[in-house]
Amino acid sequence: MNPNWHGTLIRHLLLLITGCLFIGLISGYYGWSLVVGLGLYLGWTLKQLLRLHDWLRNHQPDEAPPDGYGLWGEVFDSIYHLQRRDQRVRGRLQAVIDRVQESTAALKDAVVMLDSHGDLEWWNRAAETLLGLKTPQDSGQPVSNLVRHPRFKEYFDNGNYAEPLEIPSPVNDHLRIQLYITRYGNNEHLMLVRDVTRLHHLEQMRKDFIANVSHELRTPLTVICGYLETLLDNVDDVNPRWKRPLSQMQQQGERMQTLLNDLLLLAKLEATDYPSDNQPVPIDALLRSIKGDAQALSGQRNQTITLDIDTHVALKGSEAELRSAFSNLVFNAVKYTPDGGTIRIRWWADHLGAHLSVQDSGVGIDNKHLPRLTERFYRVDSSRNASTGGTGLGLAIVKHVLLRHHGHLDISSVLGHGSTFTCQFDPVQVIKPRISASVS
Ligand code: ADP
Repeated sequence: MNPNWHGTLIRHLLLLITGCLFIGLISGYYGWSLVVGLGLYLGWTLKQLLRLHDWLRNHQPDEAPPDGYGLWGEVFDSIYHLQRRDQRVRGRLQAVIDRVQESTAALKDAVVMLDSHGDLEWWNRAAETLLGLKTPQDSGQPVSNLVRHPRFKEYFDNGNYAEPLEIPSPVNDHLRIQLYITRYGNNEHLMLVRDVTRLHHLEQMRKDFIANVSHELRTPLTVICGYLETLLDNVDDVNPRWKRPLSQMQQQGERMQTLLNDLLLLAKLEATDYPSDNQPVPIDALLRSIKGDAQALSGQRNQTITLDIDTHVALKGSEAELRSAFSNLVFNAVKYTPDGGTIRIRWWADHLGAHLSVQDSGVGIDNKHLPRLTERFYRVDSSRNASTGGTGLGLAIVKHVLLRHHGHLDISSVLGHGSTFTCQFDPVQVIKPRISASVS
């Protein structure tokens, strides 16, 4: 392209006007020669414009623009260069898209792109094997029509994708898949699906092993504890010096029994997703009975235990599981609160759901322990644990029970100033109160 095309254009125009004036000088008709000269120039310009228009409308993808002279030559050249540059950029972009599509198509994990309504837009080959999607029939179909597991629908509609979801594959019940959903762009979804069958089997083996070992140990331990009790009853007749070791053995035996019971309960909680007996549970009666047990556990320790309950709020779920979770929290409060301390149990509902809080004025927990407190066998202080006879499984049981009841546990605590454990239940789990009343 000529960089000095402005000068060339002015030179050409000056040349045309000079030519016209020269003809005017010869012929004596200055005006007419100028009109005819400029008219011819206008006609030629119009012709070039029509050629350009014609080419823009009808050209083939690789066809070069027509040759031109002067300004029009420059215009045609510029358009041609722009067209070539555009083609090169498009070619490079297409190559990137092809590479991305090839690599995602070759992935063992399924990749599915969904639009903002949850309809299928694009997926790779693995999605056909893991989810049974069919190309191209399923394009545009809502994903929940094709992955029909009720937990998937609930998970997808809920919109909280912080944790992945594990379900059986819609193609084959023996395959376990894990789904990760990420939102991007204009509320579109990217769904990654992994085959976790092997991991699931290993996890299942671990759970079965713990459940079986706990179950198998229960009978011998019951026999040993039974004999220890008989021996202790008659220890004075046999040898009074055995009294101390025998009672220590009995104490440890009882501790092992509690541990096995907790392990079996955890195994049972993990074996199923939802409580089998999903019934309305009268929480007020449940808490009153737990308060009675807590008072018995507290004994002569002079602790004040108060109840503050909204008597008309009930919860859907398993009474046995909820009793186990709530009593773990209340008994912990009794165990970890010094003599003369206070324990406050509150049960109420609001627009966020239902809540049970157990607040104590006890020893408290350092902040650094809070995130790990619900892990199995996690101990804040092992010496403290040994003196209270805890198994380290109580809060793990609470966490599992709450998960199965659409709930979670919040813990707040200040070392030396007590702790508050709050069970938060989703509104779906709550049986709405008609009238509210408070009892202490
Ligand atoms: P444990 O059977 O040992 O009580 P948990 O799982 O119930 O096991 O609790 C885990 C740990 O959390 C306990 O060992 C204890 O250190 C701490 N903890 C639980 N509840 C309280 C509480 N109310 N106050 C202080 N520490 C607590």
